[in-house]
Amino acid sequence: MPDMLSHTRGPDVELIETSLWEAFERTALRHPAGTALIARHQGLRYTWSELKQAALATAGGLLGLGLRPGDRIGIWAGNRAEWILLQLASARTGIVLVNVNPAYRSHELRYVISRSGMRALFLPESGARSNYADILRDALGGGATLEHTVFLGTGAWDAMLARGTSVDEVPLPAPGDVVNIQYTSGTTGSPKGVLLTHRNLVNNGYLVGRGLRYSERDIVCAPVPLYHCFGCVMAAVACYVHGSTLLLSGEQFDALATLQAVAEERATSLYGVPTMFIAQLDHPRFLEFDLGSLRTGIMAGAPCPVEVMRRVLEVMGCREITICYGQTEASPVITMSNADDPLEIRVATVGAAMPATEVKIVGEDGGTVETGMQGELCARGYLIMRGYDGDPASTAKAIDGEGWLHTGDLAVMRDDGCFRITGRAKDMIIRGGENIYPREIEEFLYTHPAVSDVQVVGMPDERYGEIVVAWVRLKPGAVADEESIREYCRERIAHFKVPRHVRIVESFPVTVTGKVQKFKMREFEVAARGLERAAGMETA
Ligand code: AMP
Repeated sequence: MPDMLSHTRGPDVELIETSLWEAFERTALRHPAGTALIARHQGLRYTWSELKQAALATAGGLLGLGLRPGDRIGIWAGNRAEWILLQLASARTGIVLVNVNPAYRSHELRYVISRSGMRALFLPESGARSNYADILRDALGGGATLEHTVFLGTGAWDAMLARGTSVDEVPLPAPGDVVNIQYTSGTTGSPKGVLLTHRNLVNNGYLVGRGLRYSERDIVCAPVPLYHCFGCVMAAVACYVHGSTLLLSGEQFDALATLQAVAEERATSLYGVPTMFIAQLDHPRFLEFDLGSLRTGIMAGAPCPVEVMRRVLEVMGCREITICYGQTEASPVITMSNADDPLEIRVATVGAAMPATEVKIVGEDGGTVETGMQGELCARGYLIMRGYDGDPASTAKAIDGEGWLHTGDLAVMRDDGCFRITGRAKDMIIRGGENIYPREIEEFLYTHPAVSDVQVVGMPDERYGEIVVAWVRLKPGAVADEESIREYCRERIAHFKVPRHVRIVESFPVTVTGKVQKFKMREFEVAARGLERAAGMETA
Protein backbone atom coordinates (compact mmCIF):
# COMPACT_ATOMS: atom_id res chain seq x y z
CA MET A 1 0.00 0.00 0.00
CA PRO A 2 1.27 3.48 -0.76
CA ASP A 3 1.95 5.76 2.18
CA MET A 4 0.39 9.21 2.47
CA LEU A 5 2.72 10.71 -0.08
CA SER A 6 2.06 10.33 -3.81
CA HIS A 7 4.95 8.00 -4.41
CA THR A 8 4.50 4.38 -5.38
CA ARG A 9 6.19 1.49 -7.10
CA GLY A 10 4.59 -1.28 -9.14
CA PRO A 11 5.21 -4.95 -8.24
CA ASP A 12 8.75 -6.24 -8.59
CA VAL A 13 9.27 -8.54 -11.55
CA GLU A 14 12.26 -10.05 -13.22
CA LEU A 15 13.01 -8.01 -16.33
CA ILE A 16 14.13 -9.51 -19.64
CA GLU A 17 17.81 -8.84 -20.23
CA THR A 18 18.16 -9.64 -23.91
CA SER A 19 18.11 -7.77 -27.19
CA LEU A 20 14.77 -7.34 -28.94
CA TRP A 21 15.93 -9.86 -31.55
CA GLU A 22 16.65 -12.57 -28.97
CA ALA A 23 13.26 -12.02 -27.31
CA PHE A 24 11.62 -12.46 -30.73
CA GLU A 25 13.78 -15.44 -31.69
CA ARG A 26 12.95 -17.27 -28.48
CA THR A 27 9.27 -17.10 -29.43
CA ALA A 28 9.97 -18.11 -33.04
CA LEU A 29 11.79 -21.20 -31.80
CA ARG A 30 9.01 -22.05 -29.36
CA HIS A 31 6.08 -21.70 -31.79
CA PRO A 32 7.57 -22.02 -35.31
CA ALA A 33 4.24 -22.96 -36.94
CA GLY A 34 1.99 -20.53 -35.05
CA THR A 35 0.72 -17.42 -36.85
CA ALA A 36 2.95 -14.44 -36.10
CA LEU A 37 1.71 -11.72 -38.43
CA ILE A 38 -1.30 -11.04 -40.62
CA ALA A 39 -1.31 -7.99 -42.92
CA ARG A 40 -4.83 -8.27 -44.31
CA HIS A 41 -4.67 -5.39 -46.76
CA GLN A 42 -1.54 -6.93 -48.32
CA GLY A 43 -2.90 -10.48 -48.29
CA LEU A 44 0.13 -11.59 -46.26
CA ARG A 45 0.37 -14.10 -43.43
CA TYR A 46 3.55 -15.31 -41.72
CA THR A 47 4.20 -18.09 -39.25
CA TRP A 48 6.86 -17.33 -36.62
CA SER A 49 9.43 -19.32 -38.54
CA GLU A 50 8.54 -17.56 -41.83
CA LEU A 51 8.69 -14.17 -40.12
CA LYS A 52 12.11 -14.99 -38.73
CA GLN A 53 13.41 -16.01 -42.16
CA ALA A 54 11.95 -12.89 -43.79
CA ALA A 55 13.41 -10.67 -41.07
CA LEU A 56 16.85 -12.23 -41.49
CA ALA A 57 16.64 -11.73 -45.25
CA THR A 58 15.75 -8.08 -44.63
CA ALA A 59 18.66 -7.76 -42.19
CA GLY A 60 20.99 -9.21 -44.84
CA GLY A 61 19.57 -6.75 -47.36
CA LEU A 62 20.36 -3.79 -45.08
CA LEU A 63 23.94 -5.02 -44.66
CA GLY A 64 24.18 -5.51 -48.43
CA LEU A 65 23.35 -1.79 -48.86
CA GLY A 66 26.50 -1.09 -46.85
CA LEU A 67 24.66 -0.18 -43.65
CA ARG A 68 26.39 -1.03 -40.38
CA PRO A 69 25.42 -1.28 -36.68
CA GLY A 70 24.70 2.19 -35.29
CA ASP A 71 23.69 3.60 -38.69
CA ARG A 72 20.17 4.96 -38.95
CA ILE A 73 17.40 4.09 -41.37
CA GLY A 74 13.94 5.59 -41.63
CA ILE A 75 10.60 3.92 -42.18
CA TRP A 76 7.99 6.32 -43.53
CA ALA A 77 4.89 4.24 -44.11
CA GLY A 78 1.52 3.26 -42.77
CA ASN A 79 1.03 -0.18 -41.24
CA ARG A 80 2.35 -2.95 -43.44
CA ALA A 81 4.41 -6.12 -43.13
CA GLU A 82 7.67 -4.46 -44.24
CA TRP A 83 7.42 -2.16 -41.23
CA ILE A 84 7.64 -5.23 -38.99
CA LEU A 85 10.44 -6.78 -41.09
CA LEU A 86 12.51 -3.59 -40.78
CA GLN A 87 11.88 -3.38 -37.04
CA LEU A 88 13.11 -6.95 -36.58
CA ALA A 89 16.02 -6.49 -38.99
CA SER A 90 17.12 -3.47 -37.00
CA ALA A 91 16.74 -5.46 -33.77
CA ARG A 92 19.09 -8.10 -35.19
CA THR A 93 21.75 -5.87 -36.79
CA GLY A 94 22.00 -2.92 -34.41
CA ILE A 95 20.98 -0.57 -37.22
CA VAL A 96 18.71 2.01 -35.59
CA LEU A 97 15.17 2.35 -36.93
CA VAL A 98 13.75 5.88 -37.12
CA ASN A 99 9.93 5.98 -37.16
CA VAL A 100 8.54 8.65 -39.44
CA ASN A 101 4.88 9.63 -39.17
CA PRO A 102 3.13 8.79 -42.48
CA ALA A 103 1.15 12.02 -42.19
CA TYR A 104 4.31 14.12 -42.41
CA ARG A 105 4.63 16.60 -45.25
CA SER A 106 7.81 18.06 -46.75
CA HIS A 107 8.55 20.56 -43.97
CA GLU A 108 8.50 17.87 -41.27
CA LEU A 109 10.12 15.14 -43.38
CA ARG A 110 13.08 17.34 -44.30
CA TYR A 111 13.63 18.08 -40.61
CA VAL A 112 13.56 14.44 -39.53
CA ILE A 113 15.84 13.23 -42.33
CA SER A 114 18.46 15.88 -41.59
CA ARG A 115 18.15 15.75 -37.85
CA SER A 116 18.41 11.95 -37.51
CA GLY A 117 21.21 11.61 -40.06
CA MET A 118 19.46 8.56 -41.53
CA ARG A 119 21.34 6.96 -44.45
CA ALA A 120 18.38 5.18 -45.99
CA LEU A 121 14.65 5.76 -46.12
CA PHE A 122 12.01 3.09 -46.80
CA LEU A 123 8.66 4.26 -48.12
CA PRO A 124 5.80 3.23 -50.38
CA GLU A 125 5.45 5.18 -53.62
CA SER A 126 2.03 6.33 -52.59
CA GLY A 127 -0.47 5.55 -49.89
CA ALA A 128 -4.04 6.22 -48.85
CA ARG A 129 -3.24 9.69 -47.70
CA SER A 130 0.06 10.71 -49.23
CA ASN A 131 1.91 10.76 -52.45
CA TYR A 132 5.13 9.83 -50.67
CA ALA A 133 7.42 10.08 -53.69
CA ASP A 134 6.36 13.68 -54.45
CA ILE A 135 6.68 14.82 -50.85
CA LEU A 136 10.12 13.23 -50.60
CA ARG A 137 11.24 15.03 -53.76
CA ASP A 138 10.19 18.35 -52.17
CA ALA A 139 11.98 17.50 -48.92
CA LEU A 140 15.21 16.50 -50.68
CA GLY A 141 15.00 19.61 -52.88
CA GLY A 142 15.09 21.61 -49.65
CA GLY A 143 18.50 20.32 -48.62
CA ALA A 144 18.03 16.96 -46.87
CA THR A 145 20.16 14.09 -48.22
CA LEU A 146 19.84 10.30 -48.30
CA GLU A 147 22.15 7.61 -49.67
CA HIS A 148 19.41 5.08 -50.33
CA THR A 149 15.72 5.43 -51.03
CA VAL A 150 13.95 2.08 -51.15
CA PHE A 151 10.35 1.95 -52.34
CA LEU A 152 8.32 -0.77 -50.63
CA GLY A 153 6.30 -3.16 -52.73
CA THR A 154 8.50 -2.56 -55.78
CA GLY A 155 11.44 -4.24 -57.44
CA ALA A 156 13.79 -2.07 -55.34
CA TRP A 157 12.87 -3.99 -52.19
CA ASP A 158 13.34 -7.36 -53.90
CA ALA A 159 16.64 -6.20 -55.38
CA MET A 160 17.85 -5.22 -51.91
CA LEU A 161 16.96 -8.69 -50.61
CA ALA A 162 18.65 -10.34 -53.60
CA ARG A 163 21.90 -8.48 -52.93
CA GLY A 164 21.78 -9.27 -49.21
CA THR A 165 24.82 -10.51 -47.33
CA SER A 166 25.09 -12.83 -44.33
CA VAL A 167 24.00 -11.44 -40.98
CA ASP A 168 26.45 -13.70 -39.17
CA GLU A 169 29.14 -11.07 -39.63
CA VAL A 170 27.47 -8.64 -37.21
CA PRO A 171 27.17 -9.39 -33.49
CA LEU A 172 23.88 -9.31 -31.60
CA PRO A 173 23.21 -5.90 -30.05
CA ALA A 174 23.36 -5.47 -26.25
CA PRO A 175 20.15 -4.82 -24.25
CA GLY A 176 21.31 -1.28 -23.45
CA ASP A 177 21.92 -0.30 -27.09
CA VAL A 178 19.59 2.16 -28.80
CA VAL A 179 17.35 0.33 -31.28
CA ASN A 180 14.68 2.88 -32.15
CA ILE A 181 14.16 6.62 -32.48
CA GLN A 182 10.61 7.91 -32.25
CA TYR A 183 9.84 11.56 -32.93
CA THR A 184 7.46 13.37 -30.63
CA SER A 185 6.17 16.87 -31.14
CA GLY A 186 8.17 19.22 -29.00
CA THR A 187 7.18 22.17 -26.86
CA THR A 188 10.08 24.05 -28.38
CA GLY A 189 8.60 23.99 -31.85
CA SER A 190 10.35 21.07 -33.56
CA PRO A 191 9.87 17.35 -33.06
CA LYS A 192 12.42 15.66 -30.79
CA GLY A 193 13.90 12.21 -31.38
CA VAL A 194 13.37 9.90 -28.40
CA LEU A 195 16.19 7.34 -28.09
CA LEU A 196 14.85 3.95 -26.98
CA THR A 197 16.90 0.87 -26.13
CA HIS A 198 16.27 -2.85 -26.55
CA ARG A 199 15.74 -3.05 -22.76
CA ASN A 200 13.13 -0.25 -22.92
CA LEU A 201 11.09 -1.86 -25.68
CA VAL A 202 11.37 -5.54 -24.76
CA ASN A 203 10.30 -4.97 -21.19
CA ASN A 204 7.53 -2.46 -21.85
CA GLY A 205 6.05 -4.78 -24.48
CA TYR A 206 6.48 -7.75 -22.16
CA LEU A 207 4.76 -6.05 -19.22
CA VAL A 208 1.89 -4.64 -21.29
CA GLY A 209 1.23 -8.14 -22.67
CA ARG A 210 1.51 -9.62 -19.19
CA GLY A 211 -1.10 -7.12 -17.95
CA LEU A 212 -3.43 -8.31 -20.73
CA ARG A 213 -2.64 -11.98 -20.00
CA TYR A 214 -1.41 -12.61 -23.53
CA SER A 215 -0.51 -16.06 -24.75
CA GLU A 216 0.06 -17.65 -28.14
CA ARG A 217 -3.74 -18.02 -28.37
CA ASP A 218 -4.27 -14.27 -28.58
CA ILE A 219 -4.80 -12.35 -31.81
CA VAL A 220 -4.10 -8.66 -31.36
CA CYS A 221 -5.82 -6.31 -33.80
CA ALA A 222 -3.78 -3.12 -34.07
CA PRO A 223 -5.38 -0.41 -36.18
CA VAL A 224 -3.15 2.03 -34.27
CA PRO A 225 -0.11 3.32 -36.17
CA LEU A 226 3.15 1.38 -36.07
CA TYR A 227 5.16 4.61 -36.24
CA HIS A 228 3.87 5.31 -32.73
CA CYS A 229 4.77 3.24 -29.66
CA PHE A 230 1.09 2.23 -29.33
CA GLY A 231 1.62 0.12 -32.46
CA CYS A 232 5.30 -0.78 -32.52
CA VAL A 233 5.72 -1.54 -28.79
CA MET A 234 2.37 -2.13 -27.08
CA ALA A 235 1.15 -4.25 -30.01
CA ALA A 236 4.19 -5.54 -31.96
CA VAL A 237 6.72 -6.10 -29.17
CA ALA A 238 4.05 -7.48 -26.82
CA CYS A 239 3.26 -10.07 -29.52
CA TYR A 240 6.94 -10.94 -30.11
CA VAL A 241 7.48 -11.64 -26.42
CA HIS A 242 4.24 -13.51 -25.72
CA GLY A 243 3.86 -15.34 -29.02
CA SER A 244 0.52 -13.69 -29.83
CA THR A 245 -0.53 -12.95 -33.42
CA LEU A 246 -0.16 -9.37 -34.64
CA LEU A 247 -3.10 -8.48 -36.86
CA LEU A 248 -2.75 -5.40 -39.07
CA SER A 249 -6.19 -4.40 -40.34
CA GLY A 250 -5.12 -1.73 -42.81
CA GLU A 251 -2.50 0.80 -43.78
CA GLN A 252 -4.20 3.31 -41.53
CA PHE A 253 -7.20 3.26 -39.24
CA ASP A 254 -10.51 2.58 -40.92
CA ALA A 255 -13.53 1.70 -38.78
CA LEU A 256 -15.06 -0.77 -41.22
CA ALA A 257 -11.76 -2.54 -42.03
CA THR A 258 -11.10 -2.89 -38.31
CA LEU A 259 -14.53 -4.40 -37.61
CA GLN A 260 -14.07 -6.81 -40.53
CA ALA A 261 -10.60 -7.81 -39.35
CA VAL A 262 -11.77 -8.50 -35.80
CA ALA A 263 -14.77 -10.54 -36.95
CA GLU A 264 -13.07 -12.54 -39.73
CA GLU A 265 -9.79 -13.25 -37.96
CA ARG A 266 -11.44 -13.84 -34.55
CA ALA A 267 -9.28 -11.24 -32.80
CA THR A 268 -9.15 -11.49 -29.01
CA SER A 269 -7.70 -8.03 -28.35
CA LEU A 270 -8.38 -4.62 -29.89
CA TYR A 271 -6.38 -1.42 -29.52
CA GLY A 272 -7.34 2.17 -30.11
CA VAL A 273 -7.52 5.73 -28.94
CA PRO A 274 -11.05 6.61 -27.77
CA THR A 275 -11.83 8.25 -31.14
CA MET A 276 -11.24 4.91 -32.93
CA PHE A 277 -13.56 2.97 -30.63
CA ILE A 278 -16.23 5.66 -31.09
CA ALA A 279 -15.91 5.44 -34.89
CA GLN A 280 -16.47 1.66 -34.78
CA LEU A 281 -19.37 1.79 -32.32
CA ASP A 282 -21.06 4.47 -34.43
CA HIS A 283 -20.43 2.79 -37.76
CA PRO A 284 -23.75 2.16 -39.58
CA ARG A 285 -22.76 -1.48 -40.20
CA PHE A 286 -21.55 -2.14 -36.64
CA LEU A 287 -24.31 -4.65 -35.84
CA GLU A 288 -23.45 -6.85 -38.83
CA PHE A 289 -20.22 -8.03 -37.19
CA ASP A 290 -19.78 -10.84 -34.72
CA LEU A 291 -17.18 -9.53 -32.29
CA GLY A 292 -17.68 -12.40 -29.85
CA SER A 293 -14.01 -13.39 -29.95
CA LEU A 294 -12.93 -10.15 -28.27
CA ARG A 295 -11.71 -10.56 -24.71
CA THR A 296 -9.43 -7.63 -24.02
CA GLY A 297 -7.69 -4.61 -25.51
CA ILE A 298 -6.18 -1.25 -24.71
CA MET A 299 -7.60 2.22 -24.84
CA ALA A 300 -4.96 4.88 -24.41
CA GLY A 301 -3.58 8.15 -25.65
CA ALA A 302 -6.36 10.42 -24.47
CA PRO A 303 -8.96 10.47 -21.68
CA CYS A 304 -11.78 8.00 -22.26
CA PRO A 305 -15.34 9.28 -21.81
CA VAL A 306 -17.34 7.07 -19.39
CA GLU A 307 -20.05 6.29 -21.90
CA VAL A 308 -17.55 5.08 -24.48
CA MET A 309 -15.91 2.73 -21.98
CA ARG A 310 -19.29 1.33 -21.03
CA ARG A 311 -20.15 0.60 -24.66
CA VAL A 312 -16.75 -0.97 -25.33
CA LEU A 313 -17.29 -3.32 -22.38
CA GLU A 314 -20.95 -4.09 -22.95
CA VAL A 315 -21.55 -3.75 -26.68
CA MET A 316 -18.16 -4.72 -28.09
CA GLY A 317 -17.56 -7.31 -25.41
CA CYS A 318 -13.99 -6.32 -24.50
CA ARG A 319 -14.65 -7.28 -20.89
CA GLU A 320 -11.00 -7.20 -19.88
CA ILE A 321 -10.08 -3.99 -21.71
CA THR A 322 -7.51 -1.89 -19.92
CA ILE A 323 -6.49 1.74 -19.91
CA CYS A 324 -2.84 2.59 -20.35
CA TYR A 325 -1.20 5.91 -19.72
CA GLY A 326 2.29 6.89 -20.70
CA GLN A 327 4.37 8.78 -23.21
CA THR A 328 6.97 8.01 -25.84
CA GLU A 329 9.77 9.08 -23.49
CA ALA A 330 8.73 6.18 -21.20
CA SER A 331 8.68 3.48 -23.91
CA PRO A 332 5.64 4.29 -23.45
CA VAL A 333 3.48 2.74 -20.69
CA ILE A 334 3.81 4.07 -17.11
CA THR A 335 0.47 3.12 -15.56
CA MET A 336 -2.14 0.56 -16.53
CA SER A 337 -5.42 -0.68 -15.13
CA ASN A 338 -5.90 -4.40 -14.51
CA ALA A 339 -8.01 -6.61 -16.73
CA ASP A 340 -10.39 -7.29 -13.82
CA ASP A 341 -10.51 -3.84 -12.19
CA PRO A 342 -14.04 -2.57 -11.51
CA LEU A 343 -15.50 -0.19 -14.11
CA GLU A 344 -14.96 2.78 -11.78
CA ILE A 345 -11.18 2.33 -11.83
CA ARG A 346 -11.16 1.84 -15.59
CA VAL A 347 -13.08 5.03 -16.32
CA ALA A 348 -12.00 7.36 -13.53
CA THR A 349 -8.29 6.49 -13.50
CA VAL A 350 -5.43 5.34 -15.71
CA GLY A 351 -4.65 2.49 -13.32
CA ALA A 352 -1.63 2.00 -11.07
CA ALA A 353 2.12 1.97 -11.63
CA MET A 354 3.30 -0.80 -13.99
CA PRO A 355 5.55 -3.53 -12.57
CA ALA A 356 9.18 -2.43 -12.07
CA THR A 357 8.07 1.20 -12.41
CA GLU A 358 8.22 3.98 -9.84
CA VAL A 359 5.78 6.89 -10.04
CA LYS A 360 5.45 10.06 -7.98
CA ILE A 361 3.57 13.34 -8.15
CA VAL A 362 5.51 16.50 -7.44
CA GLY A 363 4.34 20.02 -6.64
CA GLU A 364 5.72 23.25 -8.08
CA ASP A 365 8.52 23.26 -5.50
CA GLY A 366 9.61 19.82 -6.70
CA GLY A 367 8.52 18.06 -3.48
CA THR A 368 6.30 14.97 -3.49
CA VAL A 369 2.71 15.97 -2.73
CA GLU A 370 0.24 14.11 -0.50
CA THR A 371 -2.17 11.66 -2.05
CA GLY A 372 -5.22 13.39 -3.49
CA MET A 373 -3.22 16.51 -4.39
CA GLN A 374 -2.49 17.52 -7.97
CA GLY A 375 1.04 17.84 -9.32
CA GLU A 376 3.27 16.75 -12.20
CA LEU A 377 3.55 13.02 -12.77
CA CYS A 378 7.14 11.71 -12.77
CA ALA A 379 8.32 8.18 -13.56
CA ARG A 380 11.54 6.24 -13.03
CA GLY A 381 12.84 2.79 -13.94
CA TYR A 382 13.96 0.62 -16.84
CA LEU A 383 11.36 2.29 -19.10
CA ILE A 384 12.83 5.79 -19.27
CA MET A 385 14.38 6.75 -22.62
CA ARG A 386 18.11 7.16 -23.07
CA GLY A 387 17.44 10.83 -23.93
CA TYR A 388 16.59 13.11 -26.84
CA ASP A 389 18.78 12.55 -29.86
CA GLY A 390 21.59 15.12 -30.01
CA ASP A 391 19.86 17.38 -27.50
CA PRO A 392 21.43 17.10 -24.04
CA ALA A 393 19.82 20.34 -22.86
CA SER A 394 16.27 19.07 -23.49
CA THR A 395 17.20 15.69 -22.04
CA ALA A 396 18.41 17.33 -18.83
CA LYS A 397 15.14 19.24 -18.61
CA ALA A 398 13.08 16.06 -19.03
CA ILE A 399 15.09 13.65 -16.83
CA ASP A 400 16.42 14.99 -13.54
CA GLY A 401 19.65 14.02 -11.74
CA GLU A 402 17.88 11.19 -9.89
CA GLY A 403 16.58 9.59 -13.07
CA TRP A 404 12.99 10.85 -12.83
CA LEU A 405 11.25 11.60 -16.11
CA HIS A 406 9.07 14.71 -15.76
CA THR A 407 6.12 13.98 -18.01
CA GLY A 408 4.50 17.41 -18.17
CA ASP A 409 1.17 15.77 -17.29
CA LEU A 410 -0.77 16.89 -14.26
CA ALA A 411 -2.16 14.04 -12.18
CA VAL A 412 -3.50 12.98 -8.80
CA MET A 413 -2.65 9.75 -6.99
CA ARG A 414 -5.55 8.26 -5.05
CA ASP A 415 -5.19 6.37 -1.78
CA ASP A 416 -5.61 3.08 -3.68
CA GLY A 417 -2.50 3.84 -5.76
CA CYS A 418 -4.41 4.58 -8.97
CA PHE A 419 -3.75 7.77 -10.91
CA ARG A 420 -6.06 10.30 -12.47
CA ILE A 421 -4.70 12.47 -15.29
CA THR A 422 -6.08 15.93 -14.60
CA GLY A 423 -4.43 18.16 -17.16
CA ARG A 424 -1.25 19.10 -18.84
CA ALA A 425 1.55 21.26 -17.58
CA LYS A 426 2.34 22.07 -21.21
CA ASP A 427 -0.38 23.51 -23.44
CA MET A 428 -0.54 20.48 -25.68
CA ILE A 429 -3.60 19.70 -27.82
CA ILE A 430 -4.67 16.05 -28.21
CA ARG A 431 -6.61 15.58 -31.45
CA GLY A 432 -7.93 12.03 -31.76
CA GLY A 433 -4.88 10.71 -29.89
CA GLU A 434 -2.33 12.74 -31.89
CA ASN A 435 -0.36 15.16 -29.74
CA ILE A 436 0.02 18.65 -31.11
CA TYR A 437 2.08 21.41 -29.60
CA PRO A 438 0.62 24.84 -30.48
CA ARG A 439 4.14 26.24 -30.57
CA GLU A 440 5.10 23.98 -33.47
CA ILE A 441 2.15 25.18 -35.58
CA GLU A 442 2.69 28.79 -34.57
CA GLU A 443 6.32 28.64 -35.69
CA PHE A 444 5.27 27.04 -38.93
CA LEU A 445 2.61 29.71 -39.62
CA TYR A 446 5.19 32.47 -39.21
CA THR A 447 6.71 31.14 -42.45
CA HIS A 448 3.55 32.28 -44.30
CA PRO A 449 4.42 35.55 -46.10
CA ALA A 450 1.22 37.35 -45.03
CA VAL A 451 1.30 36.36 -41.35
CA SER A 452 2.52 38.86 -38.81
CA ASP A 453 1.54 37.11 -35.58
CA VAL A 454 -0.28 33.91 -34.68
CA GLN A 455 -1.70 32.08 -31.68
CA VAL A 456 -2.89 28.48 -31.73
CA VAL A 457 -5.29 26.86 -29.26
CA GLY A 458 -7.22 23.63 -28.91
CA MET A 459 -10.99 23.71 -28.97
CA PRO A 460 -13.32 20.93 -27.81
CA ASP A 461 -14.77 18.67 -30.49
CA GLU A 462 -17.20 15.78 -30.08
CA ARG A 463 -15.46 13.53 -32.59
CA TYR A 464 -11.77 14.24 -32.01
CA GLY A 465 -11.79 15.40 -28.39
CA GLU A 466 -9.96 18.54 -29.44
CA ILE A 467 -9.24 20.35 -32.69
CA VAL A 468 -6.76 23.04 -33.70
CA VAL A 469 -7.77 26.67 -34.09
CA ALA A 470 -5.42 29.46 -35.19
CA TRP A 471 -5.85 33.19 -34.72
CA VAL A 472 -3.81 35.16 -37.18
CA ARG A 473 -2.81 38.82 -37.48
CA LEU A 474 -1.81 39.82 -40.98
CA LYS A 475 1.07 42.04 -41.98
CA PRO A 476 -0.03 45.59 -42.91
CA GLY A 477 -1.42 45.56 -46.43
CA ALA A 478 -1.17 41.75 -46.73
CA VAL A 479 -4.11 39.75 -48.00
CA ALA A 480 -5.00 36.22 -46.91
CA ASP A 481 -8.12 34.44 -45.81
CA GLU A 482 -8.99 31.38 -43.79
CA GLU A 483 -8.98 29.06 -46.79
CA SER A 484 -5.69 30.24 -48.28
CA ILE A 485 -3.94 29.83 -44.94
CA ARG A 486 -5.34 26.35 -44.46
CA GLU A 487 -4.28 25.45 -47.99
CA TYR A 488 -0.73 26.66 -47.24
CA CYS A 489 -0.68 24.32 -44.20
CA ARG A 490 -2.19 21.34 -46.04
CA GLU A 491 0.68 21.24 -48.50
CA ARG A 492 3.41 21.40 -45.89
CA ILE A 493 2.42 19.93 -42.52
CA ALA A 494 0.64 16.78 -41.39
CA HIS A 495 -3.14 16.87 -41.86
CA PHE A 496 -3.87 16.54 -38.14
CA LYS A 497 -1.94 19.73 -37.40
CA VAL A 498 -3.73 21.81 -40.04
CA PRO A 499 -6.00 24.25 -38.14
CA ARG A 500 -9.66 23.35 -38.57
CA HIS A 501 -10.52 27.02 -38.17
CA VAL A 502 -8.46 30.11 -38.87
CA ARG A 503 -9.68 33.47 -37.60
CA ILE A 504 -8.14 36.65 -38.94
CA VAL A 505 -7.97 39.15 -36.05
CA GLU A 506 -6.66 42.63 -35.29
CA SER A 507 -5.35 41.68 -31.84
CA PHE A 508 -5.26 38.90 -29.26
CA PRO A 509 -6.77 39.01 -25.77
CA VAL A 510 -3.89 39.89 -23.42
CA THR A 511 -3.30 40.46 -19.71
CA VAL A 512 -2.14 43.81 -18.41
CA THR A 513 1.42 42.56 -18.70
CA GLY A 514 0.83 41.67 -22.34
CA LYS A 515 0.63 37.89 -21.91
CA VAL A 516 -1.73 36.28 -24.41
CA GLN A 517 -4.77 34.74 -22.73
CA LYS A 518 -5.32 31.57 -24.70
CA PHE A 519 -8.18 30.50 -22.48
CA LYS A 520 -10.13 33.59 -23.62
CA MET A 521 -9.58 32.68 -27.26
CA ARG A 522 -10.87 29.23 -26.49
CA GLU A 523 -13.95 30.56 -24.66
CA PHE A 524 -14.63 32.91 -27.57
CA GLU A 525 -14.47 30.08 -30.11
CA VAL A 526 -16.70 27.81 -28.03
CA ALA A 527 -19.34 30.51 -27.71
CA ALA A 528 -19.02 31.69 -31.33
CA ARG A 529 -19.40 28.19 -32.71
CA GLY A 530 -22.08 27.07 -30.27
CA LEU A 531 -19.96 24.28 -28.88
CA GLU A 532 -20.96 24.40 -25.25
CA ARG A 533 -22.05 20.77 -25.46
CA ALA A 534 -18.69 19.43 -26.62
CA ALA A 535 -16.96 21.64 -24.06
CA GLY A 536 -19.17 20.25 -21.31
CA MET A 537 -18.48 16.67 -22.38
CA GLU A 538 -14.80 17.29 -22.14
CA THR A 539 -14.84 18.55 -18.61
CA ALA A 540 -17.35 15.95 -17.39
P1 AMP B 1 2.85 10.18 -26.79
O1 AMP B 1 4.23 10.56 -26.39
O2 AMP B 1 2.52 10.52 -28.20
O3 AMP B 1 2.56 8.76 -26.47
O4 AMP B 1 1.82 11.06 -25.95
C1 AMP B 1 1.80 11.02 -24.56
C2 AMP B 1 0.79 11.97 -23.96
O5 AMP B 1 -0.55 11.57 -24.27
C3 AMP B 1 0.89 11.96 -22.46
O6 AMP B 1 1.93 12.81 -21.99
C4 AMP B 1 -0.51 12.40 -22.06
O7 AMP B 1 -0.63 13.81 -22.10
C5 AMP B 1 -1.40 11.80 -23.13
N1 AMP B 1 -1.98 10.50 -22.71
C6 AMP B 1 -1.48 9.28 -22.95
N2 AMP B 1 -2.27 8.31 -22.43
C7 AMP B 1 -3.30 8.94 -21.83
C8 AMP B 1 -4.46 8.48 -21.09
N3 AMP B 1 -4.72 7.19 -20.91
N4 AMP B 1 -5.30 9.42 -20.59
C9 AMP B 1 -5.04 10.74 -20.79
N5 AMP B 1 -3.98 11.23 -21.48
C10 AMP B 1 -3.11 10.35 -21.99
